[in-house]
Amino acid sequence: MTNEELKKEILKLKKEKNAVILAHYYQIDDIQEIADVRGDSLALAIEATKLNSDIIVFCGVRFMAETAKVLCPDRKVLIPEINSVCPLADMATKEEVLKKKEELGNPTVVSYVNTNVDVKTVSDICCTSANAVNVVKSLDENRVLFVPDRNLGSYVKEQVQEKEVILWDGYCPVHEEYSTKDLKKLKEEHPDAKVAVHPESPKAIRDMADFIGSTSGIINYVSKTDANEFIIGTEEGILYELKLNNPGKEFYIIGSKSVCTNMKKITLESLYRALKDEIYEIELDEETIELAKKPIERMISIKRT
Ligand code: SF4
Repeated sequence: MTNEELKKEILKLKKEKNAVILAHYYQIDDIQEIADVRGDSLALAIEATKLNSDIIVFCGVRFMAETAKVLCPDRKVLIPEINSVCPLADMATKEEVLKKKEELGNPTVVSYVNTNVDVKTVSDICCTSANAVNVVKSLDENRVLFVPDRNLGSYVKEQVQEKEVILWDGYCPVHEEYSTKDLKKLKEEHPDAKVAVHPESPKAIRDMADFIGSTSGIINYVSKTDANEFIIGTEEGILYELKLNNPGKEFYIIGSKSVCTNMKKITLESLYRALKDEIYEIELDEETIELAKKPIERMISIKRT
C-alpha cells in the first residue's frame, strides 16, 4: 500500500475499533499527521486518561506506553514496535537504583519519566523535563537521587542549589552528541537566530542557549518569541509542530545526527499492523501498576513550567 492508502486504512480501523492514536513529537511526520493527539510524554499520558476509547495506540518509546497503561489500567494500550525503547531509560534498573539508594543512606528518589516502569515502582516521585525543577523544589527532603539523566539532573542542580542533588550517570545519546563547535558554527551562520535547547543537552550547550526547556516549552517559546530564526537543540521530529505553528519562521537543528532511531522505528506499516492485529499490548501486573502510579500521580500534582 502507498502511504496515503495506509493512512486511510489506519483511520478506518481506528474508527471501527474505537481507538485513539497518541504520537510523541519525535515521531515521523506521517504518524504525527494522523495522530489524534501530539505531545510530550507526560501530556500524552494525561491526555490518554481523558479520552474515551477502548484502545490507546501509543506511538513513542516503551516507557511512554507503560506510563499510559499505569494511568489507564482498564484500557488496551498498544505500541506498534515492541523494540522501540529508550536507551536513556535502560541506563537504570530497579536493582541498581535500590542498591545506590542504600549506599547513599536513603535519599529521596526522583526519577525522570524516561525510566522503565520497574524503576518507577521504587521511586518517590517522577518528573518530566518540564517540571523537574519544580518537583525537586517541592520536596520537603533535602537530599535527592536524580535518575537517570545526568544532564537534566545537572540542570536541576543549578536551579535548586539549596538541595543536594546526586546525579545518576545516564544520558540521552541524541542530546549528548551535540557539540559546541556545531552550535558555534550555526550561530555564526545565523547571527539573529535564538537558541532553544532541551535540558537533556550537555551543560556546555545549555550555557550557549537563549532558552532551555522541554519539547512543549520549546514549542511555546518559539511561538511567542519575536524572532524569525531559531536554532533548536532537540530531536528533529519537533520540526513538524514548529513548522505547523510558525509557517514564516526558519529552524536549524544542531548537528547532523539529531535523530532518535528508536522513535523512528514506528512506521505507517507498523501502526497499521498494530491496529489490525491489536499488537503489541503493554501488560503490567496489578502490583506494578499500583506502585508505579504513586510517583507518577504525585508528579502530576506538581505545576509544570
Ligand atoms: S530522544 Fe533520547 S530520551 Fe528521548 S526516547 Fe530517544 S533516546 Fe530516549
